[in-house]
Amino acid sequence: MTVEKIEIDTLVIGAGQAGVAMSEHLTKLEVPHLVLERNRIAEKWRTGRWDSLVANGPAWHDRFPGLQFEGFADDDFVPKEDVADYFVAYAEKFNAPIRTGVEVKKVERNSERPGFTIETSEGLIEANRVVAATGPFQTPVIPPIAPKDDNILQIHSADYRNPEQLPEGGVLVVGAGSSGVQIADELNRAGKQVHLSVGAHDRPPRSYRNRDFCWWLGVLGEWDAAAMKPGSEHVTIAVTGAHGGKGTVDFRALAHQGITLVGLTEAFNNGSVSFRSDLVENVARGDKNYLDLLDAADAYIERNGLDLPEEPEARKMLADPECMSNPIQQLDLAAAGITSIIWATGFKVDYSWLKVNAFDENGKPAHQRGVSTEPGVYFVGLPWLSRRGSTFIWGVWHDAKHIADHIATQRKYLAYRDSSQR
Ligand SMILES: Cc1cc2nc3c(=O)[nH]c(=O)nc-3n(C[C@H](O)[C@H](O)[C@H](O)COP(=O)(O)OP(=O)(O)OC[C@H]3O[C@@H](n4cnc5c(N)ncnc54)[C@H](O)[C@@H]3O)c2cc1C
Repeated sequence: MTVEKIEIDTLVIGAGQAGVAMSEHLTKLEVPHLVLERNRIAEKWRTGRWDSLVANGPAWHDRFPGLQFEGFADDDFVPKEDVADYFVAYAEKFNAPIRTGVEVKKVERNSERPGFTIETSEGLIEANRVVAATGPFQTPVIPPIAPKDDNILQIHSADYRNPEQLPEGGVLVVGAGSSGVQIADELNRAGKQVHLSVGAHDRPPRSYRNRDFCWWLGVLGEWDAAAMKPGSEHVTIAVTGAHGGKGTVDFRALAHQGITLVGLTEAFNNGSVSFRSDLVENVARGDKNYLDLLDAADAYIERNGLDLPEEPEARKMLADPECMSNPIQQLDLAAAGITSIIWATGFKVDYSWLKVNAFDENGKPAHQRGVSTEPGVYFVGLPWLSRRGSTFIWGVWHDAKHIADHIATQRKYLAYRDSSQR
């Protein structure tokens, strides 16, 4: 290891959108800091997502306040590569002190002096504070039910790139959140036979009465919800910005276009897969969420006397497709021609490198709005860090502001000198 020893007030680990936002706020508050990124700025947007991905929210919404997307109209859905470029441009705008290609291997509190020692791929760093901005979606999770079957290609959605990557034959996509739905749709359009395993989900209308759902969640205060509604811990959100952001995720429509919907994937046994008999219930739950949002939107328009065009057709539902009327509960994979499984089943975090007392008994970060239980250790970018919007581009910017403020305030306390010291 090259031994380079740096001392810095605040070390930010990770230069995705969370790290860039942290750096902007720390810069504004004149907190000396350094951001270390093991790859490139916003790497996940470049290489951690599938090729055709565009932002789920329109350009006016899914951005930081200080910069617009160059070359895109407000209502465009920006392709992932341009989202990454945006964060690079953003960091350049205020000359963010980011060092790329440096991995943080270990963070430990110093035993006989304040601060932390950080072991990196390039040497040691001493810092008074550390901010973990290493992402909400770090390690792909494939549930233990995944079959051990060499004849089937199994990948996580994080490793899916495009339809050509898959062998000939049908695909089972497990998970119908935004990733699963978008991938299933892309594969179906590419001519693949697709089974989509649908669990509990919310599915807001892409737009209603001339306003995008991002706008509706904003004005209705849903982005700011401080905690998940009880019982919704396993409920995913199914939205898409694909195809110009024209479509609400509608499972019946996907089925009418050729996708076979199935319930939650339960088990694999001897070459066959069983599904829970909850498909209709899950779709009905999603419908309810959709219709509740239309109701709330109508009430908001009424209450505020807004002049937005009525949209009664938004309430019309398509007929149930065959796969909902007679849900499949057992499927022989070979007979169904399935040669690949895509696990769109989410991610977990990995803080094994952060050797501090900032975790609860379940190993989850213990914090209040990102300020952890271990003084000097902060988290940013985690789901529900302060609100529903915390992992999203605009939300993380606000959370980072709060954390930077906390750091600046602590520095002020420490700089205080009483009259005998002045
Ligand atoms: C498929 C998908 C689509 C999404 N679409 C949208 C969207 O449209 N709009 C939206 O607002 N949000 C979206 N999100 C959510 C969120 O915006 C992204 O997940 C975003 O990448 C999170 O940013 P982050 O900076 O918190 O984490 P990341 O982007 O994951 O950045 C963390 C960085 O930390 C680095 N790092 C990790 N460990 C270390 C270490 N030990 N040392 C040094 N560096 C390290 C990583 O290399 C990485 O670059 C999407 C998420 C997914 C999965």
